[in-house]
Amino acid sequence: MKMEHKASAEEDSKRGTVKVVNGRYKPSGLFHFISPNTPIKDETGKLMGITNPRDMTFIHSYGGEAIFFESMGLGKLMASRCDNPDCESKGSIFMPFRIHCPDCLFKNTVVDITERAKKNAIVHSFMITERTGAFNTLPTPIKFVNVEFEGVCTILMGALIRGEPKIGMRVVPIFKTKNPDYIITDMLWVPADWPTEDLPEGYTY
Ligand SMILES: [Zn+2]
Repeated sequence: MKMEHKASAEEDSKRGTVKVVNGRYKPSGLFHFISPNTPIKDETGKLMGITNPRDMTFIHSYGGEAIFFESMGLGKLMASRCDNPDCESKGSIFMPFRIHCPDCLFKNTVVDITERAKKNAIVHSFMITERTGAFNTLPTPIKFVNVEFEGVCTILMGALIRGEPKIGMRVVPIFKTKNPDYIITDMLWVPADWPTEDLPEGYTY
């Protein structure tokens, strides 16, 4: 069942925001709004339960991954690489972005793999789903693609927003450079050589 609660204009005017002062979060305003419950009753009027509306503003701290989310809005894909000379996996490049090397726990170096992604990314496997989680903004069915990059030791899940996925097909990232949301959907995938005129609103190569 789909339930939607929209905060009133008055509630929205008090909605919480966060500033950073001397490297620390300083939240102000309200982060939780309460709305009345409604009873759930059977055909005879017997109480079976209640709906429980909740409206909360979640603070998602990006920490060391912030550069990944910020870069997508600038049309760039940032990965990370282990440069620890004592690590067996030295030189491994990770995408999704990992702050620390999973093998040696050394802090990784940020590397720009935009050109690599544009030239050498292929579909490793894919999955098409009609059912989505709450708050999905992608059109259904969603064509999830696991993207493989040359020289990268991990595989990235993304969404193919144009065309039909095939294993081994070349794909190219597109970025929401106009009004980015700073979430993973700021980067989507299209088949190689897809016409620029047919990209979703706000996205560029
Ligand atoms: Zn390492």
